[in-house]
Amino acid sequence: MAVVEYRNIKKDFGSVTVIPDASLYIPDGSFTVFVGPSGCGKSTLLRLTAGLEDATDGKIFIDDRDVTEERPTERGIAMVFQSYALYPHMDVGENIGFALKMAKVPKAEIKAKVEAAADVLQLTPLLRRKPAELSGGQRQRVAIGRAIVRQPKVFLFDEPLSNLDAALRTQMRVELAQLHKRLGATMIYVTHDQVEAMTLADQIVVLNKGLIEQVGAPIDLYNEPQTLFVAGFIGSPK
Ligand code: ADP
Ligand code: MG
Repeated sequence: MAVVEYRNIKKDFGSVTVIPDASLYIPDGSFTVFVGPSGCGKSTLLRLTAGLEDATDGKIFIDDRDVTEERPTERGIAMVFQSYALYPHMDVGENIGFALKMAKVPKAEIKAKVEAAADVLQLTPLLRRKPAELSGGQRQRVAIGRAIVRQPKVFLFDEPLSNLDAALRTQMRVELAQLHKRLGATMIYVTHDQVEAMTLADQIVVLNKGLIEQVGAPIDLYNEPQTLFVAGFIGSPK
């Protein structure tokens, strides 16, 4: 089980308050999407969850455990970024297994876990290829494989598809939905693309200038937007 809970999270950068006071409940196994315009604080909230930023105030809980002071590696989460920085000199298998190697996991176990992750992501035929020999979509799958192999309870995605072309984005959306079903893990996904949010989410969190405007299922946001901002953002074509 992996519930994520934010209690009165505040984040300042210097004298600028980016997130004034966010409280939010992310259900176990949900696919929750943070959506909102550029600069509204989506990445900041994700980085706070990952422990890559410290909150100015408030607390974050994972499964009733206060993780606010925990280091990123202790939190049982894995993050996939927009710019998937793969190691160019390592092949796909080595890239996927790298974190396990660093953690001194035995070789046979690494091999088994890498093969399992590759299977889930349909990367098995590509395990010996170098990143330069892969397409953008394949590279992004490797980046996701590096997260999967650690078997996190919570996956964080920061606009993972925004560097891909439209056709590939559509395909990867389908794959991400399948992945979520198969793994059953809690996923928190950041995007500024309302179509992506509407198709992937079972819970959408609409952010505007660091404030949570509305939380709900896609259909509820669409049918009953509670603010003009939500109505405009969800209703407007891309
Ligand atoms: P989003 O991901 O929604 O585009 P961000 O969370 O990246 O937005 O940024 C929210 C706001 O916080 C922006 O105004 C941004 O300039 C500011 N910000 C983000 N990171 C930093 C930082 N390290 N130092 C100062 N300001 C930052
Ligand atoms: Mg961002």
